[in-house]
Amino acid sequence: MKIKTKCLHEGWKPKDGEPHALPIYQSTTFNYDSTEHIGDLFDLKAAGYFYTRLANPTAGYVEEKLAALEGGVGAMCTSSGQAANMIAVLNIMGAGDHMVCASEVYGGTINLFGVTMEKLGIECTFVNQDAPDDEIEKAFRPNTKLVFGETVANPAISVFDIERFANLAHRHGVPLVVDNTFATPVLCRPFEFGADIVTHSTSKYMDGHAVQLGGVLIDGGTFDWKDYPGLTEPDESYHGVVYTETFGRQAYITKARTQLMRDIGASPTAHAAFLLNLGLETLALRMERHSANAQETAEFLAEQPEVEFVNYPGLKGDKYYSLGQKYLPDGASGVISFSLKGGRDAAVKFMDSLEMASNVVHVATVKTCVLHPASETHRQLSDEQLANAGITPGMIRLSVGIEDIDDIIEDLSKGFASIR
Ligand SMILES: *Cc1c(COP(=O)(O)O)cnc(C)c1O
Repeated sequence: MKIKTKCLHEGWKPKDGEPHALPIYQSTTFNYDSTEHIGDLFDLKAAGYFYTRLANPTAGYVEEKLAALEGGVGAMCTSSGQAANMIAVLNIMGAGDHMVCASEVYGGTINLFGVTMEKLGIECTFVNQDAPDDEIEKAFRPNTKLVFGETVANPAISVFDIERFANLAHRHGVPLVVDNTFATPVLCRPFEFGADIVTHSTSKYMDGHAVQLGGVLIDGGTFDWKDYPGLTEPDESYHGVVYTETFGRQAYITKARTQLMRDIGASPTAHAAFLLNLGLETLALRMERHSANAQETAEFLAEQPEVEFVNYPGLKGDKYYSLGQKYLPDGASGVISFSLKGGRDAAVKFMDSLEMASNVVHVATVKTCVLHPASETHRQLSDEQLANAGITPGMIRLSVGIEDIDDIIEDLSKGFASIR
């Protein structure tokens, strides 16, 4: 099946007489006839569901679909994107370890890796993802265990050179983890370029309707974990199982579930998984429209005299145009950032003059929405600090929805009229 078909037909495949739609298994636990059978489930000798913190059938079918969409060997849904990135790291790192991360990743990820992980004894070096190889090499240490980047960074809208970073990581014997939230597997599949683990905040395009937080981690199944004793040596907390021996290519994703989800419990509910599946069914169709609308919108913005710059990898002349052509050949997704010459005041006036676009702290959803980082998400920062974060006072993050493009342009025109 092609990816557009997989969005609909992977995962739940109803048999004779079964429900057409994915059922919601709203139950914490599952009945078995014998104690021995439950014992086998605990011993991982038999496959089956026993407690929803570890796994639930509704989520399980969605996980099968997500693994198929990315081309991985297994997936695990989480309660949020933050939980997915946290588990992706903790699954192979501990106190005394070090990681390398692109500095333009999502702000929540910067805090998670730079502040909270540091309190746990995990160090993170943030690197400029556009720096040459020899400069990035300098960030690696003998205790480096992981490299992390975002396919399309939120909100910088920069494109991550997955293949180059996969080569750098593998040269040091460590895996590359890619947060593929903004691209979605419809537009880019990082495993095809050498990534080892893929994560998502499914709260964005995958859900698509701004109704349910969620996350997922997906295992590419190709990394050799020989230098990761957590995977190659007995797990005493799971009666001595050796993940690489027992689960082979699914070692990483099995450990994430049996050890970390067991201990942390950041599980999705069955209803959350059901809603995510509904979103996934139309993902391919939506990404096509988001990309087409964003392309036209970016071209419109670039022509306006009040606009200082537009960041969108689909624009000829954008700094990331050629990387965009390589990694996002079918469309550059729906998020644009642009800056107004009039600075903070102009941006606020512009935003407040929009009638259709929603002013919300969200992104990557069916309805067009805008956010002003300088007075909302990043309002504690001075103009100088904003500059260091790549954010200008006049910058607006525009998440282009699937409305009629004429209505999107007309709404933005109201914003421009207000500052002319
Ligand atoms: C939103 C987002 C996250 C965090 O996801 P939540 O579901 O909000 O926890 C992580 N990465 C990226 C790229 C995001 O956009």
